[in-house]
Amino acid sequence: MAIEVQPDGRTRFNFVDRSLIRACVHCGMCLSSCPTYKLLGSELDSPRGRIYQMRLLHDGQIRVDDPNFRLHIDRCLNCRACETACPSGVQYGRLLEAARAVIPPRNATERLLRAVVLNRVFASPALLDALGLGMRFYQKSGLQALARASGLLERLPLNLGHLEALLPPMQGGIVKAALPPLISARGSARHRVALVTGCVQEQFFSLTNAATARILALNGCDVVVPRGQACCGALHVHGGEHEMARVLARRMITVFERTGADYYIVNAAGCGSTLKEYGILLADDPQWAERARAFSARVRDIAEFLAAIELNQDFGEIRARVTYQDACHLLHGQKISAQPRELIQMIPGIELVEMDEADTCCGSAGVYNITQYSLSMQLLERKVTRMAATGAEIVVAGNPGCLIQLAHGARRHGLRIKTMHLVDLLDWAYRLGRARE
Ligand code: SF4
Ligand code: SF4
Repeated sequence: MAIEVQPDGRTRFNFVDRSLIRACVHCGMCLSSCPTYKLLGSELDSPRGRIYQMRLLHDGQIRVDDPNFRLHIDRCLNCRACETACPSGVQYGRLLEAARAVIPPRNATERLLRAVVLNRVFASPALLDALGLGMRFYQKSGLQALARASGLLERLPLNLGHLEALLPPMQGGIVKAALPPLISARGSARHRVALVTGCVQEQFFSLTNAATARILALNGCDVVVPRGQACCGALHVHGGEHEMARVLARRMITVFERTGADYYIVNAAGCGSTLKEYGILLADDPQWAERARAFSARVRDIAEFLAAIELNQDFGEIRARVTYQDACHLLHGQKISAQPRELIQMIPGIELVEMDEADTCCGSAGVYNITQYSLSMQLLERKVTRMAATGAEIVVAGNPGCLIQLAHGARRHGLRIKTMHLVDLLDWAYRLGRARE
């Protein structure tokens, strides 16, 4: 990133390779797939409009702290639906993340939040564990019920009341149950895999991680659970905190290389898409670029991995109507959509019904449901209406953020639909299969 003075005296702000901006030919094919364009109907909140604003920034025609530029960039979900729709192969996610990296924090509070939450808490497994312990205590000791009944939460500053309302029931007890460092394959081992336990995933969905390890072991995998792994940096990349993302990526690479695993398995779509792009994140670091590419080549989403192996299909029957929500970073970030649906349909008794706009963001989008609460809730309303129209009893997704958001939507609207990660559904079917033996 550099600022150049052109011969005509104009400044050019090289925040990103200009060829990425120039790849957009303004055809508008992406507009109808953009959730914020559909919601707000404004060109400035469309992919094409945002890329145009980035070009203005690059050419020095707007300033990096221009409040309108920030507004429209902040409103973007980074869902990357525009990438899927774009016939010219525009790498919108890279553009957006580069733009976010150069926009300065709005004020001292945002600077402090970024420094403390993103760059301290999410960078430290010990601090995350302490925070997770506190949240589980709050939820399971009865404090949450008291706080909600008191009405005090609505008066909290910084949208904390909204944040609290989003809290799903955290899995497990007050003390999180950790997985052992190695879970051996049932029968002879055909693969050696290492499990990415995640940060949010590990705190909220530790039982889903345990189910993931069980399913892998049932399918002939020795599962290594590497100690010392931390946040993968997805939140940092998406928020433009690239330096910290690189620090976290180097740590993940070091920890996972030691496992000697053939594949690194991840069950959170947002993390998976970032892990698969470490090669891009560290491309300019001569000491790490090759290691990052090699790391990314081993990463597999759990659905992608299970659909590619000879799957143990000793499933019991689940009589249920199920619908599937595509997590944006699985569908648009990793181009994975058929595999989860194939796996769901392998379970006897399940009727899979497609949801209208299953490929549209639910409004979770990392921390979007905190930073852009109103827009996020409008997107969630659309999603809940479409979920209800399927008549499904279970909605399945492959990302913790989506599961938290969908569960919140169902609670808000009194919709009787259960939210489940794909691996929890498969694990349930396997348990029923074993009970039948
Ligand atoms: S990432 Fe999503 S919200 Fe942002 S411009 Fe693309 S489609 Fe629209
Ligand atoms: S991002 Fe792609 S689809 Fe959208 S206007 Fe540009 S070239 Fe067309």
